Amino acid sequence: MILHPFLFAIFPILFLFARNIEEVTWGHVYVPVLLSLVLAALLLLLVRIFMRDWLKSGVVASVWLLLIFSYGHIYDVIYKLGEGVVWVPHKVLLIVWLVILSVAFYLVRKSKVDFKVINRGLNFMAGFLVALSLINILLHQSPLDVRPTDSSAQPVGQSAAIDNPDIYFILLDGYSGQQNLEEFYGYDNSSFLNDLKSRGFYVADKSLSNYATTRSSLPSALNMDYLDALSPTGEAEYVRKNFFVHNELVNNNAISRLLKDSGYAYIHFGSMWELTAKNPYADINVNKQSLSEFLAILYRTTAFYPFNYVIGDWLNLDVRQAQWDRIYYQFEELAKMPDLEVGSPKFIFFHVGIPHGPYVFNQNGSFVVEEKDPAVGWEHAPESYLNQSIFLNRQLIIAIDSILSQSKQPPVIILWSDHASRAIVLDKDVDRVADISDVALRSYFRNFGAYLLPDNGADELYKTITPVNIFRVVLNKYFGANLQLLPDISYMDTPKSGYKYEDVTSRVAYE
Ligand SMILES: [Zn+2]
Repeated sequence: MILHPFLFAIFPILFLFARNIEEVTWGHVYVPVLLSLVLAALLLLLVRIFMRDWLKSGVVASVWLLLIFSYGHIYDVIYKLGEGVVWVPHKVLLIVWLVILSVAFYLVRKSKVDFKVINRGLNFMAGFLVALSLINILLHQSPLDVRPTDSSAQPVGQSAAIDNPDIYFILLDGYSGQQNLEEFYGYDNSSFLNDLKSRGFYVADKSLSNYATTRSSLPSALNMDYLDALSPTGEAEYVRKNFFVHNELVNNNAISRLLKDSGYAYIHFGSMWELTAKNPYADINVNKQSLSEFLAILYRTTAFYPFNYVIGDWLNLDVRQAQWDRIYYQFEELAKMPDLEVGSPKFIFFHVGIPHGPYVFNQNGSFVVEEKDPAVGWEHAPESYLNQSIFLNRQLIIAIDSILSQSKQPPVIILWSDHASRAIVLDKDVDRVADISDVALRSYFRNFGAYLLPDNGADELYKTITPVNIFRVVLNKYFGANLQLLPDISYMDTPKSGYKYEDVTSRVAYE
């Protein structure tokens, strides 16, 4: 009996189940088990066609399954060893895998040993691994769903009138400032801005972003400093190039560390983008994936994952539909935050992937079935960008009204964007910041910032404040911190120049 390929096929699933016993139920496991068994059968048949020997085919199929399921783990191990400085691209690792696949096939085919013995040995080994995982699962399955929050920590300092307000840090990806909307879209956004002002928001009407991309803006804002100051080498581009350092700055950021030390619960609303999809340091993660999380994690460890851009299409894992669902879900959950009982104040990180593309919302919030001219890219679809922005305006006001009416004490709400719409698309060959026109730079940097800081917190704000300084103001005001504000600088870089950042503040500044 050739059992081992089937056992090896379900082992990774049971192993993952056993390791996440508190979050996974049998319901999560049926589908992947079934898919895996089908995969094992297909591989066995495929090999059999070329091998003409069932026992040998079984061995090859098992080796192949092992390679498929270990792929993501090996990739991660190499990635961690290299600390993000050195890593092996998928292309290279896949070729190595393909070579091993072929060599295994060749060796087994040539081999003269008794495959009956090997088959028995492998059956036993695979059976043992599966049994071990099953025992683990059955022994440790617990019906409890406990989510501990640490509320024993003490605050950094004392605020005057407001005690540890809930803090909403809402990143509107790619949202443009008023001047940008006027200049590039001919749109007057003042009714939205007035809606915000009438609810007590301070709108920084000469706001600029510190960087032109999320990858640079986000770690900077969350750590209240510029990338060169955050870099272990003192060079901003080091952070940008070294994914390990970069990811750690986003995930284990200074703001959430400080607030958690002050007894806050950190609630993370992730976007579709990998970097913020889920934060391992958060107390609670809120996101909606198109696959169940269990299946998504499993899928990511397989050798199929590098082909996601094709497979996602086949399986109809429509990322646009998923984006539409996710954003409605995010806003629904956001409105519930004031009532969420965690026994401590809350820091809510909310990354919403719009108005940035893909463009999935009409103005009224219905689904954009077909993106207009997707070939030219997100940045070149002004009408779609505007529609999505207008939809976002409406959702924000609904969410803010719900938060304000349900919060027991006035919350801090930070609305900001990491960069503007980037309406002027750069030539791919541009490698010098000096070669980028002022108008293009404006389309990148004239971002959006509106802040609700209760108890006259807005007194410390000013029209040209940039994201790097926002939390300095918040911590000074509500936590008795004494942080110096930094000069507000906008840094542009180009991938071709190796992310050498250049100060373009004077080129993007408002009149
Ligand atoms: Zn962005």
